[in-house]
Amino acid sequence: MAFAAPRKLLEFSQRGTPTRRIMGVGFTAVFWLLLCSKSVAFQASHELTVVIDPDKGALSGTDRILLSDVPQDLLPIGLHPRIRIQSLQVNGRPQAAVAGDSGLVVDLSGADRSMPIELILHFDGRFQDEAPVLPVNTDNPGYGVTGTISPRGTLLLGGAGWYPAIDGAVETLRVRVEAPEGWTAVTAGRSTGVATMAGKTVSSWQVDPPAERLALSVGRYTTTASQAGDIETATYLLSDDPRLADTYLKATSGYLSLYENQFGPYPFPKFAIVENFFPTGYGFPSYTLIGGRVLRLPFIVQTSLGHEIAHCWWGNGVRIDPADGNWSEGLTSYVAEHQYQEMDSAEAGRQHRRQLLRNYATIVAPREDFPLRRFTHRYNPLTKVVGYDKSAMVFHMLRQTLGDTAFQAGLRQLYATRLHQKTGWQDVQAAFEAVAGTNLSWFFEQWLDRAGAPTLWLADVQTATVSPKTYRVQGVLRQNPPFYRLQVPVTLSSQTSEAIVTVAIDGPAAPFQITVAGQPTRLAADPETHLFRRLTPAEIPASINKLKRNAPLLVVIPSDHITPEQQQAARTLASALGRREMTIAREKDLDFNQAPTHDLVVMGIPEHPRLKRALQDRVTLHPQGFDLNGEAYRAPTDCFFGVWPHPLSQEHTMAVMLYGNQRHLETIARKIPHYGRYSFLVFAETTNRVKGIWPTASSPLVYDWPSDPPGSP
Ligand SMILES: [Zn+2]
Repeated sequence: MAFAAPRKLLEFSQRGTPTRRIMGVGFTAVFWLLLCSKSVAFQASHELTVVIDPDKGALSGTDRILLSDVPQDLLPIGLHPRIRIQSLQVNGRPQAAVAGDSGLVVDLSGADRSMPIELILHFDGRFQDEAPVLPVNTDNPGYGVTGTISPRGTLLLGGAGWYPAIDGAVETLRVRVEAPEGWTAVTAGRSTGVATMAGKTVSSWQVDPPAERLALSVGRYTTTASQAGDIETATYLLSDDPRLADTYLKATSGYLSLYENQFGPYPFPKFAIVENFFPTGYGFPSYTLIGGRVLRLPFIVQTSLGHEIAHCWWGNGVRIDPADGNWSEGLTSYVAEHQYQEMDSAEAGRQHRRQLLRNYATIVAPREDFPLRRFTHRYNPLTKVVGYDKSAMVFHMLRQTLGDTAFQAGLRQLYATRLHQKTGWQDVQAAFEAVAGTNLSWFFEQWLDRAGAPTLWLADVQTATVSPKTYRVQGVLRQNPPFYRLQVPVTLSSQTSEAIVTVAIDGPAAPFQITVAGQPTRLAADPETHLFRRLTPAEIPASINKLKRNAPLLVVIPSDHITPEQQQAARTLASALGRREMTIAREKDLDFNQAPTHDLVVMGIPEHPRLKRALQDRVTLHPQGFDLNGEAYRAPTDCFFGVWPHPLSQEHTMAVMLYGNQRHLETIARKIPHYGRYSFLVFAETTNRVKGIWPTASSPLVYDWPSDPPGSP
């Protein structure tokens, strides 16, 4: 039976962005609540067959869905408007499908809902989102693509609505994908076979434990399978690369055993590393989808892979509840990136936390800040810093508050009680309260419901001599409102020893005193960077991140002529930094008597004496190149990029780019924003050779005694 297009279907094409509506979570969340309140185990088991035609950019499919305990007569089905329904049967009877808010609505009033109900749908559709070849800005991990079927490859995200999803039901699926010979399909769950016959390759998958909104990748993959204990592991690469496969499979096995020991058994039957045909960085339940170029970067195995595997516990195993915030990115970052540093050394862990604080102070302006509980997903640097970096620090502070043992027990409790369930911050809090046996409302409220961070400083430091070799130091730890409840470690170092106290503060000031043997040399609050706080400007070295703002950028060329290479590099740099507006001008045309209104990038050696002096404080200029930190750079393909506070404006930032020839300028410009935490970079041709952070002078949490301290004999 042909699908009779009802009136409402026509509205789809007239409305804005249908994909976003499909991806929206509001409906799912509300529906889920409804189900939970009735405690009905609404189930949908699919037998889904999909035929992929890469040349036509199209798919056709059949889905036989067995429903049980359906809670209502009108059943919404998630399906994208670009899918056409060829036919629909309910318990063997043809029926017309009616377009609804999330796809279709099927009327089940003619069926007995106390019995299992069988739906059979035949459908087809085209998916031809443009897949980027060389994207510039990387804040959106999928570059806006939700569904594309092409001769280069196929990616259908869950949000693409490419098969009939029953949101709110516990869904299990048997998936069979037919594609041209040599094209293998990968999705969540367990592979139950790949067979090639009659010019077709058929991939079969069993998806159970239940999944929501499956994604599907289809490509000419070389599959390498292995085993990590009971867990199947595999790589799906677009070229035959046994060494790369081996590297990934070994690392995967290591991460799986690390996290199984920490949190509990891995929740899926397999973990796969799947290469995408355009740049992405996705973590799905039981696999990760990474673009080919990124997949071959050596550090991905050491960081991103572990991050995506940790998501199998946090985010894909224990799922987020968007109605109560996304805690999973912070926790995943904490048990991945932070933990790997900490396993390296305590100092590496401290450096990592320090960088998170720098990111926050540099990227999150107080007026743009928002409470962590409102974070749902990242879409720009600001949301990344709050949702990942601040959130990771909140888990670190929770661990400091509870101690290592209770913190680990809390994570195990959270995993054991919430696996495969929608889980909000409230559930996270409940799990830790259960193991700690204490109310943690004060902790979660101050870190989740308030925007911002404490501002702390040491004041009124005085030294007294208690005995000839013993000194007592008094001081006050202060903070600005709104006041946070904090336990702040304070360390007093002397020439011969060290003493530590913990200062509790929950108001404007907390006095303390410490006694130490030997002449005091340094008093430091939170020297190990256990606290999340807003760093003062003096504590933050200028960094490339400071250039990542959506404000107009001024690019200055200190010569008579602006070349096409410079123009192209300026445009690429501005766009990669997230700038929608960019002006390029010759330095001689600018009026430096006016107060600067823009961040500035100088492509070349600035002529203005104050701009030039800022540069020369760090870099020694030479007729054939430059010297940096005692190294001489003389090749015409050596390129320097460095960032300073704008010498003529406290509110702005200046960057200077030095280069011999202009051939690689644009490629370098594209790469610069990837090094956001650094103050300076040196490239040889297009390869980064040197990266570093300018030293900083002072901190309000550090008090240094002069070498001849007061009170000394
Ligand atoms: Zn993540």
